[in-house]
Amino acid sequence: MLDLGTPLAKVVGTRTAKAMAEELSLHTVRDLVRHYPSRYARRGEMTRFTDLEVGDRVTVLGQVRKVDTRPMRNRRGSLTEVTVGDGDGSMRLVFFNHRHARLAVGAWGLFAGTVSSWHGQLQFSHPDCQVLDEATDAEEWATAMLPIYPASKSVSSWVVQKSLKLVLGDPAGAEQLLAADPVPAEVRARHGLMSLARAIWLKHHPETPEDVEQADERLKWDEALVLQVTLAARRRAAALEPGIARPRRAGGLADAVDAALPFALTDGQREVGEALAAEIGREQPMHRLLQGEVGSGKTVVALRAMAQVVDAGGQAALLAPTEVLAAQHARGIGALLGPLGRAGEIDGDPDGTRVTLLTGSLRAAARRAALAEVADGSAGIVVGTHALLSEGVEFADLGLVVVDEQHRFGVEQRDRLRAKGARPPHVLVMTATPIPRTVAMTVYGDLETLTLRQLPAGRGGVSSSVVPVAEKPAWLDRAWARVREEVAAGRQAYVVCPRIGDDDKDATGGPDGPDPGDGAPPETAQTSDRRPPLAVLDVAEALASGPLSGLRVEVLHGRLTPEEKDARMRAFATREVDVLVATTVIEVGVDVPNATVMVVMDADRFGVSQLHQLRGRVARGRHPGLCLLVSEAPTSSSTGTRLAQVASTTDGFELARLDLETRREGDVLGAAQSGRRSGVKLLSLLHDEELIAAARTEAAALLGTDQGLAAHPELAAAVAALDAGDAADWLERA
Ligand code: ADP
Ligand code: MG
Repeated sequence: MLDLGTPLAKVVGTRTAKAMAEELSLHTVRDLVRHYPSRYARRGEMTRFTDLEVGDRVTVLGQVRKVDTRPMRNRRGSLTEVTVGDGDGSMRLVFFNHRHARLAVGAWGLFAGTVSSWHGQLQFSHPDCQVLDEATDAEEWATAMLPIYPASKSVSSWVVQKSLKLVLGDPAGAEQLLAADPVPAEVRARHGLMSLARAIWLKHHPETPEDVEQADERLKWDEALVLQVTLAARRRAAALEPGIARPRRAGGLADAVDAALPFALTDGQREVGEALAAEIGREQPMHRLLQGEVGSGKTVVALRAMAQVVDAGGQAALLAPTEVLAAQHARGIGALLGPLGRAGEIDGDPDGTRVTLLTGSLRAAARRAALAEVADGSAGIVVGTHALLSEGVEFADLGLVVVDEQHRFGVEQRDRLRAKGARPPHVLVMTATPIPRTVAMTVYGDLETLTLRQLPAGRGGVSSSVVPVAEKPAWLDRAWARVREEVAAGRQAYVVCPRIGDDDKDATGGPDGPDPGDGAPPETAQTSDRRPPLAVLDVAEALASGPLSGLRVEVLHGRLTPEEKDARMRAFATREVDVLVATTVIEVGVDVPNATVMVVMDADRFGVSQLHQLRGRVARGRHPGLCLLVSEAPTSSSTGTRLAQVASTTDGFELARLDLETRREGDVLGAAQSGRRSGVKLLSLLHDEELIAAARTEAAALLGTDQGLAAHPELAAAVAALDAGDAADWLERA
């Protein structure tokens, strides 16, 4: 007897099950029924062939129009060319030494492969084919809408479809399998939602687009409710546990910091500072998200809060996403505090504290010393990477956790650090990526937001342009000439590439594990048919011996040891280097105000928010900045349009929206992205604002009753099943 937990090997056989697990992350019947079609094919209105882009892995429905087999000119064997089309569009399929008997003119079929281009025409070579037989596939063929599933190399859309047939059977079978419904009946009634079984059935066997719409609505409710109940439960638990009040004290480190600042705080920094100071002074643990544009000066806000906690006898931890950034923070804070940050040293101020850097790359002795300072409390300010989360890091009295550049950290990690306090510490999370309202509500449902809208005065601003090298090769020469001009004027430049080079298999960072700021961005993970992305090592060499010869060019990437990375960053900061060719290790937070130009190579390989972050590295001082997005993508392609949009605005909110939109697009087209087990597949933070808000209200109401979730075992089970790690994964992705 099948149930949702049944392993797929019992249903589809071991080989298919293995491929499903490895390639699509489908392990159980539960995973399979939630493996939704990415779209539905309808005869006559199929694939808009014009939307296909080279490199997409897709499944298309079409009718065979022409079959032509001929011997190959330069090799032995034959070449078969098949033209398939639907409506206006058509596409070419090529097979070498292979004749598909059933591919006859007039036959309809599904064809899956990776789109390539041949003389300007789209083609698949050796696609997977499923010729539709009107007799045996009568059932699917009769339904108006043919589901197309996210597929992989060895698991085609039709294999998924056949497996689902084994699992679901007919509508009655679906009812039996999916009788336990996580959305309570009264919630369904209030919002006019169908049962889970009906929704799943319809999602896989719709007859009309309205069927899909209604099924989606219901299935999104599942996702939203489970997520909101999880978040609400977390909030309730956090509210019950008192922390420690760390009120402001005059004449201490906080005042010393203010006196030492080389600039006047902006009004925004002052206001946010007041709000934080008040909350840290209360027993109820603070829980704040500080959102502020790149360059708005969040670090100093955090430092003032940390100083307040130190003045009250506690310790503050600043968690940074990369070693480069952690080292930069420690150095910057140390420099600002001067002797006040070196208590216990000969030239230190005995009334001060210690600023301790703790990263995974410290050698054993240095690590022991750092751990001791953290444990005995002499380190008032502890700056570190993920290493701060590891076992064996004990704080004497952790009072405040600051997480810089939140989007690199999952909720789980935040919680792990929070758990290092004897009582819950205050938490400040900082992000430069602006967050649309729904995201704030869902993802950061347990954080209240503060915003820094203002940039410090006197900033030059950044202008951006796309350099479409395929169409305007001369513009690239102009770009390098601009770099030379800036360097001649005493400024510095970054050149960013997606890859390190010299066999990149392990584009990972140091002992902290994969450096999240390095290597190719995830959205370009399967770029099989395209040329490999440009690499730091190659580009640096070509520049140094070519257009930038005579300039001091240095490289920075995640394969360097942390010491090397740090040394090179320092050399750049002290102007011993003119041009830094780097991977996205420099994406987050790096602060060299004298750098004014950023050239991003293969800019189309980066996501929108990555580009925005990268651009934030220039024009941090008073000189105006220039960001050049170099790409081979045609200006008229969707990629070209996206780059033009990034270039046209520096409004972080607009870009955050664009980012969400393009990722959705990726979900619709990309097969590989679908296998995640996050529990969130349909819900769109962009489009489902109302639904999410309604689910949030229902979640609060459900938890607010005397019985709480106990009255709803199915929902409780779904909440428990939402794997904590997977949830974090999704939150991070959003
Ligand atoms: P982000 O918010 O991106 O983390 P930073 O905290 O790194 O920004 O600040 C960017 C730069 O602006 C730093 O060089 C910092 O010293 C400087 N800065 C911060 N606040 C002010 C201010 N009020 N006036 C002038 N410069 C400031
Ligand atoms: Mg920062």
